[in-house]
Amino acid sequence: MGFADKRVAIVGGGLGGTAFLNAALYSGLKNVQLYEQAPQFGEVGAGVNITSNANRVLDAFGLKESMTAKSSRKLPSYMEYHSYETGDYLGHIEEFSQPPARLLHRAHLLDSLKERVPESSLNLGKRLSSIDRNTAGATAPYTLHFEDGSTAEADIVIGCDGIKSNVRLDMGLGDSPNYSGQVVYRGFVDYKDLPSETAQLLRKTVNFRGPKRHVLILPIGNEETKTDRAAVIGFMSEPLEAWDSESWMSRSDIDSLQEHVKDWCPQVQDIIAGLRKGSEDGKILKQALYVRDPLDKWFEMKEGQKDAGIILLGDSAHSTLPHQGQGTCMAIESGIALATILRHWKGDDLAGAFQFYQDLRKPRTDRVTQTSYEAGKLASSDSPDQMTNNFNPGALGERMKWIMEYNVLEDLKIKGAGVLDFQDSRL
Ligand SMILES: Cc1cc2nc3c(=O)[nH]c(=O)nc-3n(C[C@H](O)[C@H](O)[C@H](O)COP(=O)(O)OP(=O)(O)OC[C@H]3O[C@@H](n4cnc5c(N)ncnc54)[C@H](O)[C@@H]3O)c2cc1C
Repeated sequence: MGFADKRVAIVGGGLGGTAFLNAALYSGLKNVQLYEQAPQFGEVGAGVNITSNANRVLDAFGLKESMTAKSSRKLPSYMEYHSYETGDYLGHIEEFSQPPARLLHRAHLLDSLKERVPESSLNLGKRLSSIDRNTAGATAPYTLHFEDGSTAEADIVIGCDGIKSNVRLDMGLGDSPNYSGQVVYRGFVDYKDLPSETAQLLRKTVNFRGPKRHVLILPIGNEETKTDRAAVIGFMSEPLEAWDSESWMSRSDIDSLQEHVKDWCPQVQDIIAGLRKGSEDGKILKQALYVRDPLDKWFEMKEGQKDAGIILLGDSAHSTLPHQGQGTCMAIESGIALATILRHWKGDDLAGAFQFYQDLRKPRTDRVTQTSYEAGKLASSDSPDQMTNNFNPGALGERMKWIMEYNVLEDLKIKGAGVLDFQDSRL
């Protein structure tokens, strides 16, 4: 059975939506269209860390070579910790599992995710405004309405439209995010804009841990393709008063980041100077981080129909704080899980397939959400003892091991044995 021939509409063409489209093609869903609000595909100017658990899936899609060409290579460890005061080495976490983490520009990851998908399945400039649940006898269970006045029909709608999802709102699922107490400043530094010793240090993933703040460096890209840069993410505790909305992205003066770290070690001062050299207007991205409670239910069914429904995937369903670098990775895992289940479900009841998907994914994404919140507390320590040699990065690594060692492809095979028909499966 399965739902291979159903008209599937993906709302949102970010990393989650495009990863799902790859999963749909890989699994053999035949009738999938993606609707993205922006006039062209794009990602915010920042780096991203894709860890082994998600790379296993992307490699199965055949994207290993494409991603590797754009990513940093042979990093000596998963993360190295340095003192915010002296810059001294405090310890490190070893890489967890194979394939290793890949660090790259978000736009480059999106390029890889777009490589194998047919142009004919991509619809740009389509901002979803509402979804009609049609009456029996209509040509489709759902009609999607876009702001440009156009419409599209679907049997299954996948809401991949991010943290402020319209699909989720349309499903009547309330959301009351709480401010985490931290903002992030994000920018890039060219290695040529750093003193050579600092440049060498920042060729590694480095975390300068300070009191209630930390500066994380992701060495993205590689020298061969001239894509190598140090992506800077400054996690800073700031009162919410300065922020009137949950603005996804705004720009801020580099001065305001510098104010937080003005007494920090010379290497961090080099980073600030490098950010200034690379920013024409003296500004970088700034974003307030919010914590959301996990949703209880990720889907709704079309009344009176067994084979039509709406479901959430990625940040719309399971957004998480970025302290374990897992939001995109969870969307990638969820994508292959949902596509496989839709394609290989033995029965004809979509509700059963959706429930199985949620039961497979939610315990893991809830745990990632909870442990990411806790990791944030540990990453920006407020105990002086935790910022010296007493700090134990090994313990931090142990906390995250279960995330990276997980193999969603294997889990699908094991847990899906009774309910999925793996004939023709590429798993
Ligand atoms: C500071 C920071 C660092 C991070 N680092 C990492 C990391 O290293 N590794 C990692 O795995 N994760 C990381 N994340 C998390 C990651 O960014 C998100 O989890 C991921 O981008 C979610 O993808 P998504 O496709 O679900 O949502 P989004 O990326 O938000 O994409 C949603 C898409 O939907 C479109 N859209 C929105 N509304 C509509 C509409 N009404 N109609 C049509 N289209 C619409 C948007 O234009 C967008 O393209 C980080 C997050 C932050 C804040």
